[in-house]
Amino acid sequence: MCGIVGYVGDDNCVRVLVDGLKRLDYRGYDSAGIAYFNNGKLNIIKEEGKLSNLINSVDLNTKSNIGIGHTRWATHGLANKDNAHPHKTGKFTIVHNGIIENYDEIKKDLIKKGYRFVSETDTEVISALLDYLYTKEKNILNVINKLNYFLKGSYALGIICDDDKETLYTLKKNSPLIIGVCDGKNFIASDVPAILNKTKKYVVLEDNDYAKITRNKVEIFNNGRKKDFVVKEFEYDDLSIDKHGYEHFMLKEINEQPEVFKKTTNPYLKDDLDGLLKKMPDFTKYKCIRIVACGSATHAGLIGKQMIEKYANTEVNVETASEFRYKKQFLKDDELVIVISQSGETADTLEALKIAKENGNDTLGIINEKGSTIAREAKMVLYTEAGKEIAVATTKAYSAQVAMLSLIALNLSLKKDLIDKTEIKEILQDVKKLPDYMQELLNDRELYKKIANDIKCYNDVFFIGREVDYALAQEGSLKLKEISYTHSEAYAAGELKHGTISLIEEGTPVVAIVTDDSVAPKTISNIKEVKSRGAYVICVTNKTDVDNDDFYDEIVKIPRVNDLFEPLLAVIPLQLISYELAKIKGCSIDKPKNLAKSVTVE
Ligand code: GLU
Repeated sequence: MCGIVGYVGDDNCVRVLVDGLKRLDYRGYDSAGIAYFNNGKLNIIKEEGKLSNLINSVDLNTKSNIGIGHTRWATHGLANKDNAHPHKTGKFTIVHNGIIENYDEIKKDLIKKGYRFVSETDTEVISALLDYLYTKEKNILNVINKLNYFLKGSYALGIICDDDKETLYTLKKNSPLIIGVCDGKNFIASDVPAILNKTKKYVVLEDNDYAKITRNKVEIFNNGRKKDFVVKEFEYDDLSIDKHGYEHFMLKEINEQPEVFKKTTNPYLKDDLDGLLKKMPDFTKYKCIRIVACGSATHAGLIGKQMIEKYANTEVNVETASEFRYKKQFLKDDELVIVISQSGETADTLEALKIAKENGNDTLGIINEKGSTIAREAKMVLYTEAGKEIAVATTKAYSAQVAMLSLIALNLSLKKDLIDKTEIKEILQDVKKLPDYMQELLNDRELYKKIANDIKCYNDVFFIGREVDYALAQEGSLKLKEISYTHSEAYAAGELKHGTISLIEEGTPVVAIVTDDSVAPKTISNIKEVKSRGAYVICVTNKTDVDNDDFYDEIVKIPRVNDLFEPLLAVIPLQLISYELAKIKGCSIDKPKNLAKSVTVE
């Protein structure tokens, strides 16, 4: 969420900060600011709203060699200029990602000690606390370390101090932060892309680590002790965060799905099953599986549940991480906990993982960002190969998660000897054909535009389906809400008549997904029920025998492949209908309002 960038070196610091913030712009924010030393004097500039407002307020030719910048996603206090970061108290100026849970307590205490606060943020207690502790002990590093004892919650911090104008300080807990390393200059950032055009070398900070960074030296400490650290090299090219001619990152990412499918499945399934049997951990020892995730990753988990239960005859339960982390736990000893996260930094998912570990359960992370916190913390990790995903609403990372879960289902099925040779042959053939089938669906833009036009005047859209199609309906509905700001609900098709059908009236758009043969006749009956009450039905189906039927108004036909991979096709029209509708409505497609890319606060 939000973004931090910091710089120390000989280049023009203000430009480096502004450029870094622009590169984090995709994550979603509501205000921005920078602080830098210029001729020994501290300047803070901040503005509400878009980064362009900040850029208009700064002089890009200012001479400065050290500074910090921030894009804020408000959690405490309105999204206005006073609450925007950086915040300065006494000698300390800071930017903060995260939430200080005990800020109220600390604030009251500091007020008693004479401190006055100018913002409504939780963040300002950090700068005030630093300043207060510094009056007792004039050692910047010690004082920063002490924050770990006082603060509860999550914090990634960029810190500069009036008493040391050559040094950038940082501290992190439960919110990601990296140090970018280069000759004669160094950086801090909440995510590597912020500095990727400057350096590919970076160091990942662990919880409670703090660092002292000058232009020529990086020193990392934990609890008073200096630490050794590993400098990593970022594997993506800077070009991968370019739109490559597409109008939006989201459209580019939707179109990358055939390639992502190949990259994610190729190591395991190519011409044979060798990779699958050798490279994937053995999951047969687990009696049941718990999948815990947030948002679209939960929806991917729901598809995984269908696949694993059907192909591997293993019970799977799916839970939302933000609920799971506070509920009474009934995890069984022989239960595998799978956590799914694109960024590998999702705060709720990370907490769920910690709970599972504390309970003694084995954990598996299905993660896109290599080396992220969840990837490091989980006992086992399977990486999806979606590449960098920039659009806030996930598409290619979601389908890579679905593909990975299908591979797990197949792996388990094979090891448990539950699948016959003919079906295996069919699956191997389908894996080869799938990218082309995906491409066919991607090419059908005119149909999705027409559907988007047909439904654009309606405020509510329903998505229905049964079993795996219900899981798809939930993802389709979320995508529509996220990017087109159209209210929608996903319903298990058989559940409508227990209440929701009262909302169906003349013209109400209903997107019905019918791919699962075992329940297709039932879903079709449910579609007929809404159709006879006036619904405008858009049917997404792999059925070939419905051409002359009258239960739909618009049909999107998807190629038929083995059930294991069918959702990867069916989701494409759902993503593109949402995209086209968002475009017609003039929405901010890559950065929907109020949303952020990796949700690092709970
Ligand atoms: N909790 C802080 C605030 O509301 C930081 C939010 C952020 O992570 O951007 O200002």
